[in-house]
Amino acid sequence: MPNDLHHLTIHEARERLHRRDLSSVELTRALLDRIEQVEPAVRAYVTVIQETALSQAHEADDRIAAGDAGPLTGIPLQLKDNIATRGVPTTCSSRMLEHFVPPYDAAVTERLRAQHAVILGKGNMDEFAMGSSTENSAMHPTHNPWNLERVPGGSSGGPAAAVAAGEALGSLGSDTGGSVRQPASLCGVVGMKPTYGLVSRYGLVAFASSLDQIGPLARDVTDCALLLNGIAGHDPRDSTSLPSPVPDYTKSLTGDIRGLRVGVPKEYFVEGVEPEVEAAVKRAVGVLEELGATVDWEASLPLTQYALPIYYIIAPSECSANLARYDGVKYGYSEQEADGIWDALEKTRQHGFGPEVKRRIMLGTYSLSSGYYDAYYLKAGRVRTLISQEFREAFKRYDVLVTPTSPTAAFPIGAKTQDPLQMYLSDICTIPANIAGIPAISVPCGMADGLPIGLQMMAPALGEETLLRAAHAYEQATTWHTLRPQL
Ligand code: GLN
Repeated sequence: MPNDLHHLTIHEARERLHRRDLSSVELTRALLDRIEQVEPAVRAYVTVIQETALSQAHEADDRIAAGDAGPLTGIPLQLKDNIATRGVPTTCSSRMLEHFVPPYDAAVTERLRAQHAVILGKGNMDEFAMGSSTENSAMHPTHNPWNLERVPGGSSGGPAAAVAAGEALGSLGSDTGGSVRQPASLCGVVGMKPTYGLVSRYGLVAFASSLDQIGPLARDVTDCALLLNGIAGHDPRDSTSLPSPVPDYTKSLTGDIRGLRVGVPKEYFVEGVEPEVEAAVKRAVGVLEELGATVDWEASLPLTQYALPIYYIIAPSECSANLARYDGVKYGYSEQEADGIWDALEKTRQHGFGPEVKRRIMLGTYSLSSGYYDAYYLKAGRVRTLISQEFREAFKRYDVLVTPTSPTAAFPIGAKTQDPLQMYLSDICTIPANIAGIPAISVPCGMADGLPIGLQMMAPALGEETLLRAAHAYEQATTWHTLRPQL
């Protein structure tokens, strides 16, 4: 029930913490109890750090008592398991890093710790963030809290399921092609991919460096803005980090979207989009219109069709380079029963990586190899430039573009594991924003057969304030974000 402590939003919890009618220790205990109760069914975590969490909560309570607390102080959160946490295993849900304990914190972890947020543990994911269902986790699959026989989406399936199930008030995921937004959509929570470079990638285990971006998962848009405030900003340790100053994103949540120019690109409503999804998204656009937005129902971005194919050249290419570091020598899994160094290297990678990771490494190695580089990787880069230009042109006419987040609601566990292409198609609506580096958000906008549906909005680079304002106005005019799964 929404009155339970574990179902509080961050802003509700913050108010009660600051009013001192709730302590962070009480709140953290409630979350740990909830984890104990539902985790056997949901399995959203790889690691739970009970004692550390409680001692962080004690410290947070001291801060609050001393009048020295920020918006995230004492708030119990989860982090996806590809975000480095000093002293706490960071496995990427891979055998390769099963026993890896980083000696340092990611930039986002550092920031959350500095604000005295409470870290409950690490969220399950598709191995190295490759996948759309969390079934590629080498640890265990995660179950959708709305229907335990369905996937939670991926690759941040653990974070999305944890937030939906009341196992954390918020979480951080990573989004390379949709991995924050698609699971948010399938689990009925809010998920956002910021502009490329807004949040530091220092300490995020690299998948495809030119696309990866860390983003919040939360129960509503206000919480999403609070989490973004907590993690955004320049970091000299990430060479792609943007130098621009970061505003207070909660200030943009005015509820006023009169005159907002909304484009609904027709290329996002093609074959494969379930009729219930299309209907829910179109109803949502109607709500924006009633709130005073002007809507172009016939917007068009014809290059959209190339985003998915070039993603599956660029992302595997970058992954094949990034994952070359797992050689069994420096850290991670190391095969001991081997006949010399080459045999050790081969066996380490053979046993350490799962089938999807191997598939990506092979695809990427192929497209980067001499003789094929020009035809694949180089050409994909050129198409990427054209797609970015097309978005820039579109944003001269529209403030936000509205589409489905995922073409379907949550699918049954096992339904797409034998067909990688079907799995890849789950990200057809989310990948373009990564290709262009622009911000995008998913908010709950309906239910079909007891399963959540998500609405995606995209804005130009550094348009987070407009994006959050639009998403918040929509959310406040509807009740989808208040629904909680019965577990
Ligand atoms: N599902 C996409 C993939 O498998 C996106 C993953 C992601 O955003 N990390 O690559």
